[in-house]
Amino acid sequence: MPAIIDGKAVAADIRAQVAEEVSRLRERTGRTPGLATILVGDDPASAVYVSGKRKASAEVGIADFHRQLSAEASQDEVASVIEECNRDPAISGILLQLPVPAGLDGPALTALISPDKDVDGLTPISAGRLLKATPGLRPCTPLGIIELLDRYDVALEGAEAVVVGRSDLVGKPVAQLLLQRNATVTMCHSRTRDLAGVCARADVLIVAVGVSGLIGPEFVKPGAAVIDVGINRTPDGLRGDVNFDAVLERAGLLTPVPGGVGPMTIAMLLRNTLTAASLHEPVPAPAR
Ligand code: NAP
Repeated sequence: MPAIIDGKAVAADIRAQVAEEVSRLRERTGRTPGLATILVGDDPASAVYVSGKRKASAEVGIADFHRQLSAEASQDEVASVIEECNRDPAISGILLQLPVPAGLDGPALTALISPDKDVDGLTPISAGRLLKATPGLRPCTPLGIIELLDRYDVALEGAEAVVVGRSDLVGKPVAQLLLQRNATVTMCHSRTRDLAGVCARADVLIVAVGVSGLIGPEFVKPGAAVIDVGINRTPDGLRGDVNFDAVLERAGLLTPVPGGVGPMTIAMLLRNTLTAASLHEPVPAPAR
């Protein structure tokens, strides 16, 4: 019997856990984690994403340090806001909403974020820490995917894991996290030959492409865990990269869109902000 992964329920559980830990941190140290969301310009989709992140943060007791800059802000102006946030001890995490307006260099701005406040896990230093498996903040969507697999008891050690899509945001980091859990990882992309054949070997199939319904039942090994990261706006509403109805009968576990990976991304941002706040916790003086 295939099971539909309930990302909303898992995300709600994580948010409740983070809220509890935020209040414990405050009781213990008097400090409150703080998140700086930096939004440049007035792109409506970006504004909706940022307000969702701010609302979710407020609900778990994370302090809001939102910075709104005009679409005309220069590279130097945005850089100096990031640097101010880097220096501010009340700010534990910094998120620069991407994409930034044309004319600004998003990757160069992201690279200015202090790696210990990099709650999106997207700076080159965070990417290096992930690759080297040293402590650091990891990107939110990949963390959310691993959390879902763990919550549904999907064995990763020795499993054949196939990741479709090789973005810095999802594909590459989730492949690294799977490798660290001792899965045998294959990465696919637009030039992969026989995509269906490669995917059909997977015990765990993760799809982050952005093509509605790309993955049909012939891509899925019976009983596999299938994680659909895609978000595609279609005339029929939001759809994933997996043909949900057709794959459901074949997969052992499957995430819906919406309600699968999406809610996990914000939940992991909250957890990362708490982790960053704990990193900055002053180390108590040694006992004499
Ligand atoms: P992206 O930067 O848009 O890159 C897409 C990847 O898919 C590329 O690696 C590309 O290969 C590959 N690809 C494109 N067409 C393909 C095909 N026909 N067969 C196999 N591979 C193909 O990726 P992204 O930013 O990770 O986003 C992917 C999707 O996930 C989007 O729908 C996005 O909206 C969604 N997303 C969702 C969340 C969430 O929270 N749920 C978070 C992030 C992203 P090449 O490298 O060869 O071009």
